[in-house]
Amino acid sequence: MKEVRVRYAPSPTGHLHIGGARTALFNYLYAKHYNGKFIFRLEDTDLERNIPHGEASQLENLEWLGIIPDESPVNPGAYGPYRQTERLDLYRDYAKKLIELGYAYECYCTPEELAEARNQQEAAGKFSYRYNRKCLDLTTEQKAQYIAEGRKPAIRFKVDVDKTYTWHDIVRGEISVPGKDISDWVIIKSNGIATYNFAVVIDDALMKISHVFRGEEHISNTPKQIMIYEALNMELPAFGHLTLIVNEERKKLSKRDETIMQFISQYRDEGYLPEAMFNFFSLLGWSPEGEEEIFSKEEIITMFDEHRLSKSPSMFDRKKLFWIDNQYIQKEDLITISEMCTKYLEAELPINSKDEGWLTKIIALFRPQLNYCKEIISLVKPFFEPFNIKDEDLAFINELNGKELLIAIKDKFEKMDDFETEIIKSTIKETGKELSIKGKNLFMPIRIAVSNEHHGGDLPTVLELYGKEQVIANIEKTIKLL
Ligand code: GLU
Repeated sequence: MKEVRVRYAPSPTGHLHIGGARTALFNYLYAKHYNGKFIFRLEDTDLERNIPHGEASQLENLEWLGIIPDESPVNPGAYGPYRQTERLDLYRDYAKKLIELGYAYECYCTPEELAEARNQQEAAGKFSYRYNRKCLDLTTEQKAQYIAEGRKPAIRFKVDVDKTYTWHDIVRGEISVPGKDISDWVIIKSNGIATYNFAVVIDDALMKISHVFRGEEHISNTPKQIMIYEALNMELPAFGHLTLIVNEERKKLSKRDETIMQFISQYRDEGYLPEAMFNFFSLLGWSPEGEEEIFSKEEIITMFDEHRLSKSPSMFDRKKLFWIDNQYIQKEDLITISEMCTKYLEAELPINSKDEGWLTKIIALFRPQLNYCKEIISLVKPFFEPFNIKDEDLAFINELNGKELLIAIKDKFEKMDDFETEIIKSTIKETGKELSIKGKNLFMPIRIAVSNEHHGGDLPTVLELYGKEQVIANIEKTIKLL
């Protein structure tokens, strides 16, 4: 088998989007499964739309996910340059060659003339526009005349209308498009810049790309790309068009969709674990055999099988992402999770007043509940809020006959020297036994009196974290209001 070389070729017009990350990931998995190379190439010819640091941001976010290119503009291999803006002459040379071979021609039509031709075709009832080939057979004199008028030519590919372009798509099987459905298209614009469909072929061919996995929106581009390979007698890669990612309403993912965070950096900012994202994205359009869904990067690489790429749209299921991230948060080293969570807490709450032991303990307490690390803020926040019990909660405590219990437990807590989880636990149990109270009737009044909340972590741990003084003070305040 020839060497597998795949690529991810973003435009630096934005940050790494979840759709792009999925495409990059599947290419990466394919490369690594077959001991091949994953190449990062930049499609940066749309200068006006490029954003500052777009390239670095794309690379950084990919690397955060664990998708490390073997070749890229900053780590070039033998097939550079890896930025299209540095390859413009190359495209012009190949365009010239296509003209010489009779596969392409200069077109001097102005945008106004083209619009006019389009309107005429529409008026005549032709709805799929085709360029009218006005410039197909221009004489040298006609060209000289246009140039004298100040016109600059674009270069068009002359589509063979009798041909059918067929490929075996790795995801979808055989796809055929008749040449008569494709207009003579521009390969070099009048400003001298190659168009995407042309440049991508020159790049893929010269970089010896063996397989192209990309989004299904590129299916309609593939016949144009095949024409170029054939005209230049270059070897075709295999194509695989990944199905759409849809939201929970089964609608195509759009950058404006506010129900889903669109950019990888947002997940990073909220404290998702990169390994969890890698795992989640691998299941977005691919499925391993069996029911298991949590796999390490190495396991996914070993198992990856292009024949199991999905043929139907894949749903971006946030609950599943939460579940996967939660699994990784629980498995991860506590020190790592503590460091991540502390960063969020420091920014929002006065945690300087607490020691490191307190922080580690509270993070360990809430870790099993975290879908992503930033959620730690809302879980820890109640510990910093002033005592403020609601009337309905006072009524609830009364309903549970909690006053007697609170008086007894306050008394016991006051006598404790070591206010520590295990001892608190046995003290609560003992008090319950003495008063013949258990379950909800035993835990709820204490929890509400101290934290003013109905939920939280394990009660004895929560009490230890509030500290003896605060626990007694809050219970006392509650008793007075009952
Ligand atoms: N820059 C293109 C995109 O982001 C690459 C398309 C391709 O992979 O051929 O969609």
